[in-house]
Amino acid sequence: RAKDEGGGEHCQYEPTLHAHAEERRKLEFSLRRALERDEFELHYQPVVDANDETVVSFEALVRWNSPEHGYVRPDKFISLAEDTRLIVPIGEWVLATACAEAVNWPPHVRVAVNVSGEQLIEPNFATTVVQALSDSGLPANRLEVEVTESIFLRDANVVRSALEQVMALGCTVALDDFGTGYSSLGYLRKLSFSTIKVDRSFVQGAAQGSAESLAIIRAVVAMADSLEMSTTAEGVENAEEAEMVRGLGCKKIQGYYFGRPMPVDEVQQVFARKGEVRARIA
Ligand code: C2E
Ligand code: MG
Ligand code: MG
Ligand code: MG
Repeated sequence: RAKDEGGGEHCQYEPTLHAHAEERRKLEFSLRRALERDEFELHYQPVVDANDETVVSFEALVRWNSPEHGYVRPDKFISLAEDTRLIVPIGEWVLATACAEAVNWPPHVRVAVNVSGEQLIEPNFATTVVQALSDSGLPANRLEVEVTESIFLRDANVVRSALEQVMALGCTVALDDFGTGYSSLGYLRKLSFSTIKVDRSFVQGAAQGSAESLAIIRAVVAMADSLEMSTTAEGVENAEEAEMVRGLGCKKIQGYYFGRPMPVDEVQQVFARKGEVRARIA
């Protein structure tokens, strides 16, 4: 797993503004060719049921291996793809590929796909989803779309309509990285998210004894419970953190403790071991 998360930092120096702009320009040049040159790959990270620790879904996380730039972390190229609108074709590829790969998994295992605001507000977003489902044969109820709070900075009617169309197809929608962004709670009343994903920063904070982080997790879980939404704790890295978030009432858990993002062939090996993820990867 050489090209995985790891440390692989690319900037050892503090770049000047010019060098930074130049690097971005080069990265953009390569990114424009990445799809046709087939340089993307999806890795999948397990999400487990907090109670019995069986796998309920895998989140698709895109990876870019560039011949010019080496392994580029999503944190770096996703924002560039959003700025240049390249996220629209890249996101289509992610959706189609995730559905095509997940159709081979056991029927109770779902796949979650991250969708950027730029992609969501495209007029034909729902059509893209329909296409990915029908091309792959994946039942709609096995696809979850993940969006972050930042989408609500866009036109509320457009966002709402796009999410409602996706839900009408039978897909679910999760609210990712909850608590880190734009936090008006009004949209929670209007849209039926299936799951709220509690951001890793709160899990890490609470694990390090932050009373504020702990209070926020408690509040989010209580709110989700009363709105009949599920909760996923992100970034759980050890048994103590798993125990903590389970105790706080989180319904599902995701994090390195249960498995790192892995290539699709390793996902199949997880099923061979009857879905008991933790036994193998960590
Ligand atoms: P995200 O959707 O919140 O995904 C979770 C990120 O947290 C992943 O980073 C994952 O590797 C990392 N992670 C999971 N468990 C742990 C843990 O226990 N400890 C730590 N330290 N980290 C953990 P990754 O793969 O680098 O992705 C970063 C972000 O890039 C994602 O955050 C998502 O916002 C975005 N992204 C990834 N793939 C796509 C995509 O296909 N489309 C779009 N639009 N965005 C994507
Ligand atoms: Mg996500
Ligand atoms: Mg997240
Ligand atoms: Mg995140």
